[in-house]
Amino acid sequence: MTVCCPDCGSRYLRPSRSRSLTERLRDFIGISPLRCGDCGRRFIARTWDLSLFVYSRCPKCLRQDLNVWTDEQYWPGAMMKLKIRLGGHRWRCEYCRHNFVGFRPRLEVFSFNRWRERAQAQEPKNKNGSK
Ligand SMILES: [Zn+2]
Ligand SMILES: [Zn+2]
Repeated sequence: MTVCCPDCGSRYLRPSRSRSLTERLRDFIGISPLRCGDCGRRFIARTWDLSLFVYSRCPKCLRQDLNVWTDEQYWPGAMMKLKIRLGGHRWRCEYCRHNFVGFRPRLEVFSFNRWRERAQAQEPKNKNGSK
């Protein structure tokens, strides 16, 4: 997702519920209210870009850096099994721990390093002042 928070530049965004009929209508054409997970700012942005149609993304938080799950980690339901048999990929979103099956390839491979970086960035400043 190329959309980022206008206040802090964070890409950690969640869809926000539409508050008015106008917003709901806009949602249909891909302009959706979002909330920044870092600073809490709510804003409207165009969330449909081409990558939406080309790459898989988490249905819950819309992230596109995805991990994979295996049958040992997660027991898929009948519908998911069917999708896998039809060629779906086992994608896992580590951010909301959501496992799903998507037919599109992933845009980015999830890395725990980046996750850790983000977690560190959110921690209060460290005393040494080093990064
Ligand atoms: Zn923000
Ligand atoms: Zn997610």
